[in-house]
Amino acid sequence: MRVELKFYHLEEILKKAKESKIEICGFLLGQKKGESVIIEEIAFAENKLNSPVEFEIDPLEIVKILDYADKKGLEPVGLFHSHLCKPIPSGKDIKGMKNWRNIWLIVDNRGNYGAFVLNKNNKIKEVEILIKK
Ligand SMILES: [Zn+2]
Repeated sequence: MRVELKFYHLEEILKKAKESKIEICGFLLGQKKGESVIIEEIAFAENKLNSPVEFEIDPLEIVKILDYADKKGLEPVGLFHSHLCKPIPSGKDIKGMKNWRNIWLIVDNRGNYGAFVLNKNNKIKEVEILIKK
């Protein structure tokens, strides 16, 4: 599996993460094609915890974003959020990954990033990211 991410989407996420004192978050919308997950759009959401160490998205906002994706013929293929520390899944993220088994893109506030999934044995696996112009 690998993720295809547009350069300007990644730039937008990294820029926002750099400027923010709290974790930023949102959805990756796109489609799966064979072994590739292609991100077509990103949808920022509010971190309702307003926290530098965790995030949560309001269920109503999730519904809105999923509705939007549906209208556009896109799937919610992943989530993104930022850390103010290393961009690897936290304990809370791993719990979330068990409920939401798709791509988790995590960035930090210094321009680093990684994409992760939980495999069937609940082990974290880093996924290759292909940056597209
Ligand atoms: Zn996290």
